[in-house]
Amino acid sequence: MRFVDNTFINLPVNWEDKAEAATNELLAGNIVADDRSAIWKELKESLETLSNGRCWYCETNIPRADNAVDHYRPKGKVQGVALTADGKSLTRFDIVPEHSGYKWAAFNPENFRFSCQHCNEYRKDLQGTAGGKWNYFPLVNEAQRAYEVLDEDNEVPVLLDPCKRLDWRLLSYDISGVPFSRFEEGSPEDIKVKLSIRLYHLDQNRLNEGRIAQWKLFKPLIDEAKKWYLKKLRQDQGADACFEKELRKIGQWFHPKSKNTYLGFLVYQLEQDKNKDLLHPWIGELIRTVG
Ligand SMILES: [Zn+2]
Repeated sequence: MRFVDNTFINLPVNWEDKAEAATNELLAGNIVADDRSAIWKELKESLETLSNGRCWYCETNIPRADNAVDHYRPKGKVQGVALTADGKSLTRFDIVPEHSGYKWAAFNPENFRFSCQHCNEYRKDLQGTAGGKWNYFPLVNEAQRAYEVLDEDNEVPVLLDPCKRLDWRLLSYDISGVPFSRFEEGSPEDIKVKLSIRLYHLDQNRLNEGRIAQWKLFKPLIDEAKKWYLKKLRQDQGADACFEKELRKIGQWFHPKSKNTYLGFLVYQLEQDKNKDLLHPWIGELIRTVG
């Protein structure tokens, strides 16, 4: 996962009027949200552009698909979910009073996330592990659940949100690329990370292997840059230019138009570099610019 800035979504002419009319009809009980799904599908390409075709939750490239617009706050009946005591599987419960969906947010672009089907639909993979966000929207404190728009700010969502600037930085990864929680067991951050990994299925083998594969391709660029940085400190001839050239390649890797995936993991790997603070301070600067 990585931050996606959704401040400026291109809205077609008259789109806001259509969305407002649909919201009013939905709140009045005249329609269900899916009756007007064409409205959010119209924004699919605008949302896709913001991440250059990558899923906002797991960062895989998404093949052209119909169901790529996820509602962060579910548009349909919300299902309760929590982690079992061992933190490994999910347990479901009924939300009381029943929550028929965040209707006020069903046609609000700020609630839309560009998502692959693995992240937004409930499913089991071949290993039998379940994933998919579906109609789950767990809260740190269930008692604060919002039943109307004015109460929305009271909620502390559990699911990591790619549109919040800092949420993605809560994820840690082991040497196999498997995400884990670094926080005290049972703390709000711990619950956020563990449940998000489960519900977005961020520890799927394909993703773990993909992260490592990207790091193996990317790491030689960092090693080269390190070499030229040390030569530059030694004032070797041409080292300045060579170091700049390597930085440029790294910048291209993270460029918004590049098709590279799992950039959040690469930033995490850079953060873990033992020599980042003393020997190679440029890495910290790099993280600030690409992260
Ligand atoms: Zn995904």
